[in-house]
Amino acid sequence: MTRDPKHDILFEPVRIGPRTLRNRFYQVPHCTGFGAEKPGSQARFRGMKAEGGWAAVNTEEALISSDTDYWPVVSTRVWDEDDLRNLSLMCDEAHKHGSLAGIELTHGGVHADGRESRRPSLGPSQLASDYHPFVVPKAMELADIKRIREDWVRAAKLSRDAGFDIVYVYGGHSYLPLQFLSPFYNKRTDAYGGALENRARFWIETLEEVRAAVGDDCAIAVRFCVEALGPAGVELDEGTGFVVLADHLVDLWDVNVGSITDWSKDSGASRFFPEGYQLEWTGRVREVTAKPIVGVGRLTSPDRMAEIVRSGAWDLIGAARPSISDPFLPKKIEEGRYGEIRECIGCNVCIMKAEWGNHIGCTQNATAGEEYRRGWHPEKFEPAANADNDVLVVGAGPAGMECAIVLGKRGFRRVHLVDAAPEIGGVMRWIPRLPGLGEWARFLNWRAVQLEKLKNVEVILGTELTATDVRDYGAEIVVVATGARWSTDGLNAYTHVPIPGADASLAHIFTPEQIMLDGKAVPGKRVVVYDAEGYFTAAGLAEKLAAEGHDVELATCLERIAPVTDETLEGPMLRQHLHDVGVRQRAGFLAAEIGEGFIRGTDEFGEPVELEADAVVLATQRLSNELLYLELVEDVNALHAEGIDALYRIGDCVAPRIVAEASYDGHRLAREIDSDDPATPLPYTRERIVLESAAIGT
Ligand code: ADP
Ligand code: SF4
Repeated sequence: MTRDPKHDILFEPVRIGPRTLRNRFYQVPHCTGFGAEKPGSQARFRGMKAEGGWAAVNTEEALISSDTDYWPVVSTRVWDEDDLRNLSLMCDEAHKHGSLAGIELTHGGVHADGRESRRPSLGPSQLASDYHPFVVPKAMELADIKRIREDWVRAAKLSRDAGFDIVYVYGGHSYLPLQFLSPFYNKRTDAYGGALENRARFWIETLEEVRAAVGDDCAIAVRFCVEALGPAGVELDEGTGFVVLADHLVDLWDVNVGSITDWSKDSGASRFFPEGYQLEWTGRVREVTAKPIVGVGRLTSPDRMAEIVRSGAWDLIGAARPSISDPFLPKKIEEGRYGEIRECIGCNVCIMKAEWGNHIGCTQNATAGEEYRRGWHPEKFEPAANADNDVLVVGAGPAGMECAIVLGKRGFRRVHLVDAAPEIGGVMRWIPRLPGLGEWARFLNWRAVQLEKLKNVEVILGTELTATDVRDYGAEIVVVATGARWSTDGLNAYTHVPIPGADASLAHIFTPEQIMLDGKAVPGKRVVVYDAEGYFTAAGLAEKLAAEGHDVELATCLERIAPVTDETLEGPMLRQHLHDVGVRQRAGFLAAEIGEGFIRGTDEFGEPVELEADAVVLATQRLSNELLYLELVEDVNALHAEGIDALYRIGDCVAPRIVAEASYDGHRLAREIDSDDPATPLPYTRERIVLESAAIGT
């Protein structure tokens, strides 16, 4: 395979101040849940991308001192030498692979609510945080301004000494420098408020001091949202106005859109934003600077990347999510292995998993976040010690497909992936057909290509296996990946019993699969979709049925419509969108009974409510399809008699979870199938402080 020459431009080096990027692929700062608290995970996670060809890898936001504290959201802290000692491991990993390491130094200002440090938040003016409305900052005195500049310089020097090549003066997503710049936050009447030049003063002074301190050794980068797409920041004219004012102090402009409250427009889910969507705003920055520019927009198409560079709009292709989904994206383009690229599907599960004290993971890339603690490499697979066996995987959903692929790569003699359905995919056969989720099909497409390539993996479709079939199959190892189904009787988290009258064998009551796979006709005009789960399924079905001409009400017993989508940054836009397409929304409705023509229950205050409904769709909870597994495991002697040495189950068949977890579970079993007890995950390396008694003075 060779690279298309039109992509050669992506592999030109780019100079940024005193440093040189080896190509145009740039991993912009993004959260992981690691910070300086999990230094091994941080180092290996970023190092993997460096190995995969990203010319620079950056930390997440790095808080410069203890008066900017967001705990329990894990940002990198650069409060003292120990934090930097931890982060220096990441620099070593980046350098080992010829990449630059960058650190996104910042101060959260108003939004840093000091939950651990107990220090007040600080702002240009005393205006409550729009992100945490109960947090009211101290209006900064001139002494505070001076101290923070000094903290920034100190953090920059420590960063340089730790090995970082790129130092940011990050304004954000509406963090302190941008809060000074934005009239939404800054109502000062002194030299730091008023005209743009005054509002830019804090940022420019900080840049001057940081540049004087480390500018000979490190590239100085500024990242900020040039267009807030809402009130919490600046509009494009002031964004570019700031670029003009600060250009002489900056080696790299890292530009995006949105704000902390409108982060959903920066890390845009594929449901609402196509690839490259930020270019509309960030592409305008070129008009005011000749310095290198990096932009983002969930770019995975090399043609599009080359086009952008050729157009002159950006010099570097920035990525957070595409680099999580495929750390080897640059290498694969470089080597012309286009079909191997594991394209990000834009589901934002990485954000759900990285924010709020979690540990990053990814729907497409089961190894994301496991590089250090489990030692997994996304492109390397050890031959299995028990590879001279046949493995039967029953069920080709996310868990079964991922498991079969990894088993195939680990060199098993033969892997048989069998599914009752006429196509592979399991739930992914229909999820991408929900409105807005078309890009999720990439999950299936990548796996279809892999399965096709693996000569030792055979896919057998349209074959439903019974326990007897499995025993007779002739494989020594059996993995049951039969997935889950939606409850047909309204069983749900709130009552733990079925809803009286709910029975999806009736003509007017539906499960999601009956609509998406079975083609069961929805009668009448009025449809109520009843959601007790809160993620995308009910909302998607409501939108689909409304588009088909039904009069749809989406009712949920939860406090809000689709609250889980808030964790993927889709929630507010999704609720607005449902409203715009005519879906009525009712939260706090607990269903008590369903009958012909109605669903009745109570509102959040216990008052009775009856909704007219010709049809009711139930998205209440899922249940594992575990009967096959239970029947097999019940009779171990019968298994052994047929030469089956091992039986496992994976994915939703164990417990119904999100696709990322089902896929991870299949991957995990295949990675560990030659361990002493493959059914139980091997312990992973934890990163925490272990104190001796002397350390606490006893
Ligand atoms: P997961 O997310 O755990 O991979 P899914 O529900 O997406 O689970 O996929 C499960 C797959 O298993 C479905 O495609 C289904 O058709 C298949 N399946 C379930 N039971 C059997 C069976 N007895 N024989 C063959 N395939 C089965
Ligand atoms: Fe992309 Fe989803 Fe993976 Fe995030 S979790 S990188 S959005 S595929």
